[in-house]
Amino acid sequence: MSEVRVRFAPSPTGYLHIGGVRTALYSWLWARQTGGTFILRIEDTDQDRSTAESIHIVLESMRWLGLDWDEGPEIGGGRGPYFQSERLDLYADYADRLLASGHAYRCYATKQEIADARDAFHKTSAKGGFRFQSPWRDRTDRPKDRDAHVIRFRAPHEGTTGWDDEVKGLIEVPNDTQQDFILLRPNGMPLYNFGCVIDDLTMEVTLAARGDDHIINTAPQILLYQALGAEPPKFAHMPMVLAPNGEKLSKRHAAVGVLEYRNMGYLPDAVLNYLARLGWSHGDQEIFTRQELIEKFSWDHVGSTAGRYDSKKFVYVQEEHLRMLPDAEIARLTVPFLAEIGVVVGADDPVLLAAVPYVKPRSATLADVADGVRYFFGEVEFEQKGKRKFLVPENAPHLVQLAELIEGIEPFEKEKLDEVVKGWLEANELPMKKVAQPARVAMTGRTRSPGLFEVMEVLGKDRTIARLRAAAELAAAATTH
Ligand code: GLU
Repeated sequence: MSEVRVRFAPSPTGYLHIGGVRTALYSWLWARQTGGTFILRIEDTDQDRSTAESIHIVLESMRWLGLDWDEGPEIGGGRGPYFQSERLDLYADYADRLLASGHAYRCYATKQEIADARDAFHKTSAKGGFRFQSPWRDRTDRPKDRDAHVIRFRAPHEGTTGWDDEVKGLIEVPNDTQQDFILLRPNGMPLYNFGCVIDDLTMEVTLAARGDDHIINTAPQILLYQALGAEPPKFAHMPMVLAPNGEKLSKRHAAVGVLEYRNMGYLPDAVLNYLARLGWSHGDQEIFTRQELIEKFSWDHVGSTAGRYDSKKFVYVQEEHLRMLPDAEIARLTVPFLAEIGVVVGADDPVLLAAVPYVKPRSATLADVADGVRYFFGEVEFEQKGKRKFLVPENAPHLVQLAELIEGIEPFEKEKLDEVVKGWLEANELPMKKVAQPARVAMTGRTRSPGLFEVMEVLGKDRTIARLRAAAELAAAATTH
């Protein structure tokens, strides 16, 4: 097999859609598995959408996911530049070659002429979509009154064009369905099919993977390769990611921008795992590390039918990946999420490190971890419902007694706390629930948290006592309804 060269060629739109990421992922996995090259190319010919900001979002998304590129923006490579807007000379050069060989021609038709032809077409009962038949296909002269023109491909009308798709199998398209599509606009900007072919050709791409919304473009692209006397790459067309209701997944159904998942506290490996499985399988395995994906990925097992987005399953995959991380790493990754909610601590903060193991099993995302450890820092913020229910006068004495009891407990560890406190409850014939919930609310402000003794251990003796006493005062002063 010749060296694998694959590419991801997003058009910046302001966010990187997770469906696009799945395509990028498969190519990246293929490159990493085979020791090939993964190219990132920015298709920025739509100048309105390709702002610096939207390009930045693409690069930032790829970096966050850890889908590193071997050639592309910022690092360059031997077949650059990697922004289409910087390759206009190359497109002009190839357009000249096609003009010279008769595979392309200059079309001087005006917008008005094309609109008139379209109107005339729609007035007839002809079937199918309108295809402009340029009078300039067969003319050799030039108009005297204008120079502005596009360059069109002289599409063949006979025969068929086909390819053996890595995902969809054999596809064939009759050439008489092709039109003389535009290669270059008057301003020198290539249209997608032309830019894509020249780039894939000159970047020596061996396999072009993309969404199956591009299947319609593949026959025209193959015709271009043939016109240039070049071998087309292989193609792999991925089914779209669908919403649970079967529509194409969009913002209306779920978060679709990669960075939204970062901001929600998902882990890149979890996002990649979930997306990999959405359309590819390896037996019934659900959870894969990045390394396992690299080892096990194969085009043979990419399904040809669309996967449906399932937010519950995504959360499950995320939880599993969180469990796999060492606690210190979770602490480090949680720091920015804590800062977001106003808790400024370092990754080596002892309270954070002590709390993570207890909060981790109750969390799915890093944002959950941050929220789950929040009350270990600063003041307790009481949830009103829990406060009203449990910090009531009749519970105040128990909180005071508990504070007094634990004063003498050494070492201040959950096993010891468990033993002593339970012994005290028994001796005083107090049911656990009478004391546990008020104490939980006292220490955390909430009715749900890790185990009582785990919370005490993380808070440490002084803060535990202070919180129990402060809550006892609140409870004593509360008016019952
Ligand atoms: N810029 C195109 C897109 O984002 C690339 C398609 C392709 O990979 O050929 O859909």
